[in-house]
Amino acid sequence: MKYIFVTGGVVSSLGKGLAASALGTLLELRGLRVIMQKFDPYLNIDPGTMNPYEHGEVYVLDDGAETDLDLGHYERFTHTNLSRLNNLTSGQVYMSVLEKERAGAYEGRTVQVIPHVTNEIKDRIREVAKNMPGDIIITEIGGTVGDIEGLPFLEAIRQFAIEAGQGNVLFIHATLVPYIKAAQELKTKPTQQSLAKLREIGIAPQIILCRTEHPLDLDVREKISLFGNVPIEDVIEVRDVKHSIYEVPLKLHEQRFDDRVCKVLHIESPQPDLSKWRHFVQRIIHPTHHVRIGVVGKYIELQDAYKSIYESLTHAGAASDCKVDIVKVDAEAIEKGGPDLYLNGLQGILIPGGFGDRGTEGKIAAAGYARQHGIPFFGICLGMQIAVIEFARNVCGLAQASSTEFDKGTPHPVISMMEEQKKIRHLGGTMRLGNWVTRLVPGSKAHALYQSDTIEERHRHRYEVNEDYKDTLESRGMIISGVSAKGDLAEMVELPAHPYFVACQFHPEFLSKPNHPHPLFHGFVQAAMKHRIVPEPHC
Ligand code: GLN
Repeated sequence: MKYIFVTGGVVSSLGKGLAASALGTLLELRGLRVIMQKFDPYLNIDPGTMNPYEHGEVYVLDDGAETDLDLGHYERFTHTNLSRLNNLTSGQVYMSVLEKERAGAYEGRTVQVIPHVTNEIKDRIREVAKNMPGDIIITEIGGTVGDIEGLPFLEAIRQFAIEAGQGNVLFIHATLVPYIKAAQELKTKPTQQSLAKLREIGIAPQIILCRTEHPLDLDVREKISLFGNVPIEDVIEVRDVKHSIYEVPLKLHEQRFDDRVCKVLHIESPQPDLSKWRHFVQRIIHPTHHVRIGVVGKYIELQDAYKSIYESLTHAGAASDCKVDIVKVDAEAIEKGGPDLYLNGLQGILIPGGFGDRGTEGKIAAAGYARQHGIPFFGICLGMQIAVIEFARNVCGLAQASSTEFDKGTPHPVISMMEEQKKIRHLGGTMRLGNWVTRLVPGSKAHALYQSDTIEERHRHRYEVNEDYKDTLESRGMIISGVSAKGDLAEMVELPAHPYFVACQFHPEFLSKPNHPHPLFHGFVQAAMKHRIVPEPHC
């Protein structure tokens, strides 16, 4: 097993996760089995309890682990099979150390950051190496070099490198090379300082990834090579991509990044075949068709809050040679201005997952607008619950229908908490999480799209469609097209009389990949492409 550690310097949000994922793509295409993992230095056990403003999207894995959104990149860029083993936080490390301490496992010794915390981190790397088949583990260390909280992780990987032996470990440092407009110059000082900081800890990176808005000219590369103590070929430019994040592997390969990585790690492997990847990128850059799809949410100003949804729309679009122009619509704005003002002219409306009652009335109005105007609609998790509430209110005549999540005293709780959820007191990791089997109803759109009787999809929610209302909904034309394995929970609903009105209780956005769009996104984008906007008549 070979080990690559990716650290970041100067600022956060450098695109370190993306660069690590792109490296994963290149190494996989060279025939290597890649495992990816992320270390996060915060004290939360997982990001599941953080709100999207703090952390962006919470990415859910098959086994129900709630993880950092970088794991979404890993799954989209590689075929690495991720589980809760692949995202380690300081919170988990300390929890485990403290549990051992209480159990007397340290036999009377003083429990310290070095060696006990660092051992715990190294043990995790070994556990992943032992349990997952692979040739290389790429580990991304979250945060920025210089953060106090990141120190135990850096110390652990320094020790690990010595134990794993020369030629088996590669350190890659990703930094920012800022451009000072007034001087019209790229500046290398922050990079030099962050490299110095790493060396202070005892880590000397062999490859430096330089995030930059402008091309790195020879001068700049020479300077970074000199101060960074690496050959000039190992100073790699990661320039902002023009069109799509999926260009990153191609840009890195042009600079022979994957060759350099293999050289340091003494790996013999053929050149990657990038033809399919290139084809996919070409379709994103030069699409034949365009479609306008609105995403109605409450975190729309945050790029990262619905990351996997946006990526899934891109994948589905590329498969149909179509660029999806995403229109981000604030659900609260709809509450004030009415749906027509924001949704008129859209070819598709998607309501993603969410929590709490803010903006829900705007989302309900959006679902109603899509239903009444025959606009393709896709509801995901909360989006499905919203569609059910809207239908109950406006078609089934239950004017005060709601979810007990937003209205505890509603006379018509069409969405309510699952019985087993009611007993739970802790917030962290206690939702209905991860993979669950859904049985699809033959003849439904869902069945036609998946072309399968059963599917497995990832979940993250506490509330469900209330069984007591299923007959009412079905009698008025909303079918339950997917049910849980036992048959008791509604997993999907749809309106057969509508061009495309499909909603699911699970999160299909976590299973979409560049050349494998998810069937529900694919069906939705295709329906949106068919939806013609009728121009308003001129007076
Ligand atoms: N808040 C809803 C629930 O807990 C929906 C969750 C979601 O959209 N992920 O059931």
